[in-house]
Amino acid sequence: MARERLYLFDTTLRDGAQTNGVDFTLADKLAIAGMLDDLGIDYVEGGYPGANPTDSELFAEDRDLGTTFTAFGMTRRPGRSASNDPGLAALLDAKADAICFVAKSWDYHVKVALETTEEENLASIRDSVKAAKAKGREVLLDCEHFFDGYKANPKYALACAKAAYDEGARWVVLCDTNGGTLPHEVEKIVGEVCKVIPGDHVGIHAHNDTEQAVANSFAAVRAGARQIQGTLNGLGERCGNANLVSLIPTLKLKPEFADKFDVNVSDAALKKLAHVSHALDERLNRASDRHAPYVGESAFATKAGIHASAIVKDPATYEHVAPDTVGNRRKVLVSEQAGKSNVLAELERIGLKVDKDDPRIARLLEIVKEREAIGYAYEAADASFELLARRTLGTVPNYFDVTQFDINVEQRNNARGDRVTVTMAVVKVKVGEENMISAAEGNGPVNALDLALRKDLGKYQKYIDDLKLTDYRVRILNGGTEAVTRVLIESEDKAGDRWTTVGVSPNIIDASFQALMDSIVYKLVKSKAPA
Ligand SMILES: [Zn+2]
Repeated sequence: MARERLYLFDTTLRDGAQTNGVDFTLADKLAIAGMLDDLGIDYVEGGYPGANPTDSELFAEDRDLGTTFTAFGMTRRPGRSASNDPGLAALLDAKADAICFVAKSWDYHVKVALETTEEENLASIRDSVKAAKAKGREVLLDCEHFFDGYKANPKYALACAKAAYDEGARWVVLCDTNGGTLPHEVEKIVGEVCKVIPGDHVGIHAHNDTEQAVANSFAAVRAGARQIQGTLNGLGERCGNANLVSLIPTLKLKPEFADKFDVNVSDAALKKLAHVSHALDERLNRASDRHAPYVGESAFATKAGIHASAIVKDPATYEHVAPDTVGNRRKVLVSEQAGKSNVLAELERIGLKVDKDDPRIARLLEIVKEREAIGYAYEAADASFELLARRTLGTVPNYFDVTQFDINVEQRNNARGDRVTVTMAVVKVKVGEENMISAAEGNGPVNALDLALRKDLGKYQKYIDDLKLTDYRVRILNGGTEAVTRVLIESEDKAGDRWTTVGVSPNIIDASFQALMDSIVYKLVKSKAPA
C-alpha cells in the first residue's frame, strides 16, 4: 500500500518566540531555520514581518532555504479593503514562499475581540487568501480558537475554514489556541472537518496546556489531518506547543504511523535529532531536559542491577526504540545501588575491555560506593566515572600537574567610585619538565580559575581549545556532621559531544577545581592526546 505524505510545519521562530525568556536575534533565527531545513522540515515559519524589526529584516531578503519558508500575519482588517491595509501589504511584500494567515473562527471572538460581523470576518479571510494567491504565494490559514469555536458554533467555525479552502488556500490549520482540548475531542472534531475539507488540506496546531499537544497532534492525524505544526523542544508560550522532537521519532519509528505515512525527515536526519534539540538549548543558554523523550540524557538510562544485566545480553529488552536512531545513546547508571553488571555494561560502552572476574572490577565498585557515600554522583557525571574507571584499571596518563593555585577576590571602589568585585586567579602548571604560570580575571572565583587553568597547557592546549563549559550546578549536601558542596560541570566540544564531571568538598572552590580538572583530563583522553 502506498504511504500517504504527512507534512511537518515548524513554528519555533514564530509561536516558539513567545516563550517566556526567549528572545531570538536575526542570527539565531537564521541558524535555527538552517537546522530545521537540514532536518527536512517541510515548512519553517520565520516570524511576523512588519510586527517587529527582527522579523521585517528576516523577510527583507531571500533566505535561500530548501524548506517552504513561511511568513505569518493577520488577515486584512475588518472594514478595510485588501489593497488598503498596511499590515497585509507588509506580509505580501515579505520574501517568503508561503503566507500563513491567522483568523478568528470562534463567533464569540469575532464579535467581542474583532468587533465585527461574522460575514465581514469571512470576507476578510476570502480577500486575504485571494490577495496572497495573486502574489503567487502558497497560502495557509490558521483558524484561531478552532476547537473552542467549533464547540460553541460548529457551523461558523467550519464556514471560516471552508472560506479559505474554497478560495484556494493549500492548508486550513485547526488551532487549539488555549490548549485545553482533549485527544478524543480533537479526533472527533477533526473527523467532522475532514468530511467537508479533504484531510490532505487540513493541519493541526496544538498547545500543551494539558500536556497532550503531542497526543492531540496524533489524534488529528488519525482523524485525517495531514499537516502537523509544532516547535523544537516544545517551545511556546505558557506550557508550549506540540513538541516536534517527540513527534518526529514517533512518526518515523512506530509502525502505526511509519507504515502509513512518509515524512520528509530521512533516517540520517533523524540521527541528528538529539543534536538539534541540544543545539537549540545551547543557543537559548538553557540546560537541556535530561528526561526529554527520545533525546534526553536519561531517555535510555537504566539504573537497577537486574535491568543492566539484561541490557548487556539484549539491549532491546528495556528500550522501546534503539537510542542511536535518534542520535542518543544507551546509558547504564553507576550508583550505590548498582551491581557489578552495571559497571561492566558501562565499561563496555566506553570501550574498556576487562574480564568480568578481574578483581579490579570489585575494587572499582568499592571505590564508587565509598565516594558516592561522601557525595559524589557518578550516575550524573559520566565523564568522572570514566576517568575513575580508567584510573582504577591503570590507563590514564598524567598529562600535567597543577602545582599551585591562588584566587584573589577583592571588593573596592573603582575609578568612577562604583563598588566592584574583582576576581583574579593565578595557576602554576607543570607539563613534563616545563613550569608555566597563567593568570586570568573572571566574573567570580570559579570562572577566574577555569580561565587561568585553560589559558596555557603548553603542548596540550590545542586539544582543549574547543572545550566549553555549558552548565555549572552546585548543591549543598548535609552528609553527617558537616555540609559538603557538590559541583557538577557540563562541558561540550566542537564535535557536539557533551560530558559531565563532578567534584565534592567542604570548600566550593576545591569541589569546582576537581570537576574542572576531570573535564579537561577527560577531553584529553577523548582526543587521544599523547601522554
Ligand atoms: Zn499557537
